[in-house]
Amino acid sequence: MLKIIKNGEVYAPHYLGKKDVLLAFDKIVAIEDKIDSPQDFVEVEIIDATNKLIIPGLIDSHVHIAGGGGEGSFKTRTPEIQLTDITRGGVTTVVGCLGTDGTTRSMLNLLAKAKGLEEEGISTYIYTGSYQIPVKTATGNIEDDMIMVDKVIGVGEVALSDHRSSQPTVEEFKKLAAAARVGGMLSGKSGKVNIHLGDGERAIAYIEEIVSTTEIPITQFIPTHMNRNEDLFEKAIEHGLKGGIVDLTTSTTAKFLEEGEVKSSKALRKLLEHKVAIENITFSSDGQGSLPVFNDKGEYTGLKVGRVASLYEAVKDAILEEKVQIEKVLQVVTSNPATLLKLPRKGYIKENYDADLVLLNKDSLEIDTVIAMGKTMIEKGEVMIKGTFEA
Ligand code: ZN
Repeated sequence: MLKIIKNGEVYAPHYLGKKDVLLAFDKIVAIEDKIDSPQDFVEVEIIDATNKLIIPGLIDSHVHIAGGGGEGSFKTRTPEIQLTDITRGGVTTVVGCLGTDGTTRSMLNLLAKAKGLEEEGISTYIYTGSYQIPVKTATGNIEDDMIMVDKVIGVGEVALSDHRSSQPTVEEFKKLAAAARVGGMLSGKSGKVNIHLGDGERAIAYIEEIVSTTEIPITQFIPTHMNRNEDLFEKAIEHGLKGGIVDLTTSTTAKFLEEGEVKSSKALRKLLEHKVAIENITFSSDGQGSLPVFNDKGEYTGLKVGRVASLYEAVKDAILEEKVQIEKVLQVVTSNPATLLKLPRKGYIKENYDADLVLLNKDSLEIDTVIAMGKTMIEKGEVMIKGTFEA
């Protein structure tokens, strides 16, 4: 019931120094220089974090938890995610979404998977809709989903500037953004629109037009995959400088990088060099999504599956290879998504916040321990709690 994590260096994600952290059930209740165990009247688990960093559990804000894809026909529908695909990567909160396929993947299926993962011990939210506009929802429309379904925090992943997009008009997309905004206001949620951007030349033109012709603010949108090619990344810098949110995708393939994708860790460094506000930058993994490859003629030639583990790998790479300050890197996978997506009690090591923590070995930055809602999921790199159907 009680855990004291002793002698770790706490990044909350801002640096707090060497602290003891007391967890009670699923909450963080104290962060002090020294916390003694009240062992005489209650059982306390002591976790030694000497030579370890304590960081908030990672938030992965774009994961195809119920599977995705299928661009190479039925056999290429990517499988549902398993609990340890998430927890092994230091992730304790995921935002699930559908993707290209809004027919054989449904909102109710996505919601059920999110509930299942929550029963297994992590925290989950979902976006309503899929690539296509009009979006398919759980209740019949966006506002009702946002207001009446607790887990629905916004709309997405809607595809723009992509050959797989439903090619909506700006007007149709505008209406969708308006519904997300009002639904969010009425339910106390963020109401963000998560946008899959393809390689198309229109890039973020729809967002720019809506921002310049309506009252909807630029921060209503979370365009993702903004590092997918050099041209789009240039737009990402401009968008970030105007106060827009820039989401960088961490799952990649050697071929994508060869073809001009900007590695997420490098993209983070470049955004900061261009003075884009750190608060507007997030990483997400696109985990379990399909990473299809098309040739020059737009023909499908093969497919790989995105991994949630790529999120923390990108964090490590940004710290160790790109030399971005650790506190800034941690922000893009903890406090930034929590704040932008309005996730209550998430993203910080703070009193009364959820007991979602990751312990890292100080030298290697390898993940040692993962605690989600006060339960130890990973300990010394070993899985403590498996998913229901994991051997
Ligand atoms: Zn996508």
